[in-house]
Amino acid sequence: MDFELTDEQQLIRQTAREFSDREVGPRAGENSTNHHFDVDLVAMIADQGYLGAIVPTQYGGAGLDYQTYAIICEEIGRHCSAMRTVISVQTSLVCSTILRWGTEEQKQRYLPRLCSGEWLGCFGLTEPDTGSDAANQRTRAARRDDGSWVINGAKMWISLGNHAKLALVFAQTEPALKHKGLACFLVETDQPGFQPQEIRGKFGLWASDTAEIALDDVVAAPDSMLGQVGDGFKVAMSALDSGRYSVAAGCVGICQASLDESVKYAVARKQFDRPIASFQLVQDMIAEMVVRTDAARLLVFRAGAIKDAGKPSTTETSIAKYYATEAAVWCADRAIQVHGGAGYVDDHPVGRYYRDARVTTLYEGTSQIQKLIIGRAATGINALV
Ligand SMILES: Cc1cc2nc3c(=O)[nH]c(=O)nc-3n(C[C@H](O)[C@H](O)[C@H](O)COP(=O)(O)OP(=O)(O)OC[C@H]3O[C@@H](n4cnc5c(N)ncnc54)[C@H](O)[C@@H]3O)c2cc1C
Repeated sequence: MDFELTDEQQLIRQTAREFSDREVGPRAGENSTNHHFDVDLVAMIADQGYLGAIVPTQYGGAGLDYQTYAIICEEIGRHCSAMRTVISVQTSLVCSTILRWGTEEQKQRYLPRLCSGEWLGCFGLTEPDTGSDAANQRTRAARRDDGSWVINGAKMWISLGNHAKLALVFAQTEPALKHKGLACFLVETDQPGFQPQEIRGKFGLWASDTAEIALDDVVAAPDSMLGQVGDGFKVAMSALDSGRYSVAAGCVGICQASLDESVKYAVARKQFDRPIASFQLVQDMIAEMVVRTDAARLLVFRAGAIKDAGKPSTTETSIAKYYATEAAVWCADRAIQVHGGAGYVDDHPVGRYYRDARVTTLYEGTSQIQKLIIGRAATGINALV
């Protein structure tokens, strides 16, 4: 077991840190306040190679390992969860899924455009009536005589859905077959009938683009399926295996940012003629943040090491996702506490950290769903649902 980063990983961390401090941090607060999805910043992130970090260079990616990918997610997530969400969706949910399941033609057609940021992609699994029970898709795909498919239904809470040029759309082809009828389609969003609409009024993640999408007789070409009919659920789960990892890594960034802001403030702020950092109860909050940040980071690296070794990592990924997302919510909440009233307004970013952290225990599988995966692995028994 080696806890040291390689020279290359240290260099990439340094570069990502400087980029995030220079470009992401200064824009994060304003983009959030203005509910602005910053496509210029997305383009800069793409230019850094962060949208295809784990995609091989032959398809336009950076060809990095999963541990290095975590470093990038952490550094971007340290300043802006909305931009880290872009990386998670594009790199993990879309690119890694095409890489794993796509034909050579599909990889050649889509991966270079996605890695360069020319196209954004989105991942359409959740529906108005289908969340945690993801296999229960209400969206329907019907095969036509010429081999193409007609898709009808609705998708809900789809990150990047208003800007994406490519959508992974999950649909049921034959309800009687249940999960054996599920399929995943690569849908180019300029198809007639693909109608995204921005979701307003979110609790946080204001600088992220989130859509509900109506699918009204959307035609998918005969060669647009990822895998085969019946693979849809496996495709979704493999996507989430990578996506959850990146969310966890981004949450390490939220933990670290909450800790950094808290230390800075606690040392500078005086009450009772002393820095508040000298009070044991304040140090207690900071010490807890240190421990949870460390633990979250180590769990992410462990999951990454298993992925890099090419071994199954679903349980370790769920452990990292569950722990890191809950830690991010906790650390951001305590960061507000350390700041007192000053943490309750926009002068300090900790309020945004909390609002943005809050969704991470929901998306890509709630904390309860992660616990079901962890519990099943421990007991060998599927919990009652
Ligand atoms: C900002 C945002 C962005 C998102 N981006 C995407 C995206 O890009 N693509 C996409 O497909 N989806 C996306 N989602 C959807 C997200 O993945 C779902 O919200 C999530 O899976 C939970 O589904 P749900 O909201 O329908 O909640 P439900 O499944 O209805 O769950 C409600 C509550 O019940 C609990 N629960 C449900 N089933 C069980 C069970 N068996 N045991 C114990 N507890 C249970 C849950 O843990 C939760 O507490 C996004 C969501 C948000 C808010």
